[in-house]
Amino acid sequence: MYGLGRLLHKRVTTAGGNYLRRWPDTPRILVFGPPNVPTEKLSQRLAIDLGVPIISMEKEFERVQKMAGRKEYDHPFYTKVKEILDEGDQDTITKEKIGLKLLRIAEYAQEGFILNDFPHSVADAESLEELGGGMNAFVHLNMPELFLAQIESAKYECGDCGAVYQREDVIDEETGITQNANYPEDGFCDNCGSIHIRPATDPEAFENALQAYSQRKEELLDFYNYLGLLVDIDLRKGGLEDYERVKSNLQFNIKF
Ligand SMILES: [Zn+2]
Repeated sequence: MYGLGRLLHKRVTTAGGNYLRRWPDTPRILVFGPPNVPTEKLSQRLAIDLGVPIISMEKEFERVQKMAGRKEYDHPFYTKVKEILDEGDQDTITKEKIGLKLLRIAEYAQEGFILNDFPHSVADAESLEELGGGMNAFVHLNMPELFLAQIESAKYECGDCGAVYQREDVIDEETGITQNANYPEDGFCDNCGSIHIRPATDPEAFENALQAYSQRKEELLDFYNYLGLLVDIDLRKGGLEDYERVKSNLQFNIKF
């Protein structure tokens, strides 16, 4: 059903005149990748360029759990959602389409968004297609696993603002992918000025995140490839250095 809507919309957009298409009116972009890929940094930059918010479903869920019954969350719907989230049963959360419902009513999500940590499964992904005309792109950012593990072992973070730093350059022997050290020379956090920068290597958390990613990867990529929404990008550098490539790739492939 949404497929036809898209075709019609596309015809209207391109029949208008001699302008190049840029971005959908309400871009809904999903960004997905393994741990230590700079998903957040690239998403932030993209969000600025497109003028849309970055949404974390995890934070949306946390907010409802904390605020249900108070202020603008004083509504039976939120109380019900809180109950379901507190139970913590993933199947029910998916079946009740909690993610979709929250996006549908969130004022800040109406003009489009970039979503970093959702969907978790094809069932979630299917529910997201019920939002307006569906998603416009699923961006998969990838880097070699061994490289990501090396980044983990060189990782530092600011204890006050959470900014992540890397003490040495990390190079992948096989592909030549390099991520340069960005540890502040004066020892103060570039982001907030704090002096509390500390080692942040956590092999266990890294393994868990990598496992969660691997479990979802195949089915999500298949699903979005089938819908023609997959934008699969192998990153070559860290931080923001790949940004222009990611942006042009996305712009070329995004679905209207
Ligand atoms: Zn900081």
